[in-house]
Amino acid sequence: FRVQISPLKGAQHKKMGVVGLLTDVTERRKLEQMRTEFAANVSHELRTPLTSINGFVETLLDGAMEQPHVAKNFLEIIHTEGKRLANLIDDLLKLSRLEDRRTILHKQPVDLADIIHNTIKMFEGLAQDKNIELTEVIPSDLPPVPGDFGFLSQVIVNLVDNAIKYTLTGGKVNVEVTFNQQSITVTVSDTGIGISEESLPRVFERFYRVDKARSREMGGTGLGLSISKHIVEAHGGKIKATSSQEGSTFYFTLPLD
Ligand code: ADP
Repeated sequence: FRVQISPLKGAQHKKMGVVGLLTDVTERRKLEQMRTEFAANVSHELRTPLTSINGFVETLLDGAMEQPHVAKNFLEIIHTEGKRLANLIDDLLKLSRLEDRRTILHKQPVDLADIIHNTIKMFEGLAQDKNIELTEVIPSDLPPVPGDFGFLSQVIVNLVDNAIKYTLTGGKVNVEVTFNQQSITVTVSDTGIGISEESLPRVFERFYRVDKARSREMGGTGLGLSISKHIVEAHGGKIKATSSQEGSTFYFTLPLD
């Protein structure tokens, strides 16, 4: 609480008492704290790839350049870290536009089956490399849903990408769509590493990662689910996750009207 006390004066400035004002600033403090934490997180996330880039450039300048195979290896790392920085900046911009509601959705009737076929095609190679069985179950009479094709594609790509990333060799990933009169639900389930009960409610937070090292190794920014949540909510929908030792299930529902 913030406390303000001012004297209460009557005619001819005669003191009549005091007025006390108690303002509840909990919400404002919380927002300020979130903003500070976010700025600290962003700086840290940007600094990590930059430190690595600078380190490798210095080593190259100090002589590693003379050994072509070492130099090539270092340059590849620099390239990967550079791409990571670019992805991170793209995701941050996307997120900030979505959070400020500056993003305009171009709504049209969208065939989710189209998006799912494209996504599965996109990840077929990766799934094969990991010997993951990637399947879809889509009803043939699926109605179109009002939405933004590009943004809804991003959500589905992100969920399938995660499902494959966090599933070990030989596992399964399935994308399923169901609908009723009011809504359509897309479910992406995997037989992956699962998410602990404590972590599950936090996976939609910006930069939250159950295992930072693993996520980094996989090229993740820790912003994908947060962006997906904003996109689904901007469509009037909801996104949720459940998980057990057998794997995780992410699903989102979009209104049909
Ligand atoms: P990232 O870029 O790290 O994948 P996301 O926002 O997409 O960021 O996901 C946040 C975190 O949630 C991940 O780092 C991971 O720990 C966890 N996660 C997301 N999807 C899955 C999944 N299908 N199985 C297990 N963990 C997952």
